[in-house]
Amino acid sequence: MANTFQDNQVCIESRDCFDGRNVLVMGLGRFGGGVGVSRFLCGCGARVTVTDMAKAEDLRDSVVALDGLDIEFHLGGHREADFKSADLIIVNPAVKRSSEWLKVARDHGVPLTSEMNIFFSLCAAPIVGVTGSNGKSTTTAMIYEMMKAAGSESRPKRRAWMGGNIGRENLLERLGEIDANDLVVIELSSFQLESLAEIQRSPHIAVVTNIAPNHLDWHGTMEEYVSAKQNILRYQGVGDTAVLNRLNGGLKDWNEVGGGEVLWYPDSVSDSTAGGYDLPLQVPGRHNQVNALAAMAVGSVLGIDVSIGRVALCDFKGLEHRLEFVREVDGVRYFNDSIATTPESAIAAIQAFDMPKVMILGGYDKGVSFGELAEVVAREVDVAICIGQVADVLVELIEESKRKINNDNMLCLKAADFEAAVLLASEHSRPGGVVLMSPACASYDMFTNFQERGERFRAIVGTLG
Ligand code: ADP
Repeated sequence: MANTFQDNQVCIESRDCFDGRNVLVMGLGRFGGGVGVSRFLCGCGARVTVTDMAKAEDLRDSVVALDGLDIEFHLGGHREADFKSADLIIVNPAVKRSSEWLKVARDHGVPLTSEMNIFFSLCAAPIVGVTGSNGKSTTTAMIYEMMKAAGSESRPKRRAWMGGNIGRENLLERLGEIDANDLVVIELSSFQLESLAEIQRSPHIAVVTNIAPNHLDWHGTMEEYVSAKQNILRYQGVGDTAVLNRLNGGLKDWNEVGGGEVLWYPDSVSDSTAGGYDLPLQVPGRHNQVNALAAMAVGSVLGIDVSIGRVALCDFKGLEHRLEFVREVDGVRYFNDSIATTPESAIAAIQAFDMPKVMILGGYDKGVSFGELAEVVAREVDVAICIGQVADVLVELIEESKRKINNDNMLCLKAADFEAAVLLASEHSRPGGVVLMSPACASYDMFTNFQERGERFRAIVGTLG
């Protein structure tokens, strides 16, 4: 077989491409980010080396998951020789493309790719890709529910698959089961999209929910973030469709980026098909109505029967940690919105409820601006409890916004730690109201990840009353 990984070019035509090749997996990750691709590569006959800066003891779960496979582990640091001699390097989305190690690889003509690129190259079924700054997972899950419902009704049956940044299933390991008649929906982060440029591929249907500053600590500038996101439609051609949110000003010129057809929602989804903004959804808030309209637009491209799509959307119960109802205590309802790591998602959460609100917000500083969020909090929240690295900045901004609108009734507090914040929230809540943990920030300053933060919230709320 010709060398398909020559001169920095990656052309992955079949699983056989990897047979007998030296493949370096860069970044194993504590939560198994590199596990699926390593297993897949072993299954294809590659000689796999896994390298990670973290030590073996910190990666224990991931290493155990690869037990029994013929893999060489170079953990606790990288080795230059690996980056010079590999036939191909699979880069974890958490590794910056500007890494000095990757420069060594490029200088030696070693091509780079990613797990997602392999999936896109080898998946037989059409792919719906979903990205955006907010609402990716929810919209992906909604589309999946519609695909499942429609697929089970069709003859022959079409199976639906969901993967990417959502769920625990690694679709690369299921590639052999996915056939051309199936439907696949993938949630794509800006990091994954960045690497799609290497294979110049975009999904057949590209959905963009919205765009707002996010992950600027990683991408550096808004331009770079937008450019990475635009890869979702940049390489589309005839027969492909971009499904874009007309309500989001940031997407205004995106119809000019790719070569596919463009479908704007909600305009494209008329009231008669989607029920406007009042689908009887189980997930709260107008933002979820908009997410549902994106899913309906995708349904129309895929030819999913409108009534089947509607029922699937209305049956959808929502995802964990996303405005998830936890418990009612003394007439107060507690919601876990730990996934809300951007100001826009926290604003969407505030606007999803019209009863009195106590809100817990703050966390790790991703370098985004909280000005607009502070204004909404000062106007629409009764008590704000700020935590984490950005607590002081938030308190200052919220106090400033309160002064601007002369709102002395609103209370803005700072809590020493997470538990104190939940207890303070409970003290200040009123029957008929809600306590909303919608932090607008990532959790890394206090927790391993947003799941741990959400679980901690549930646990503390479980002890109340
Ligand atoms: P993502 O995968 O982009 O992080 P999720 O669906 O997981 O998005 O939702 C993350 C947070 O954003 C949740 O707090 C959710 O309530 C909120 N959210 C969901 N959809 C939207 C939207 N269209 N606009 C703004 N916020 C949203």
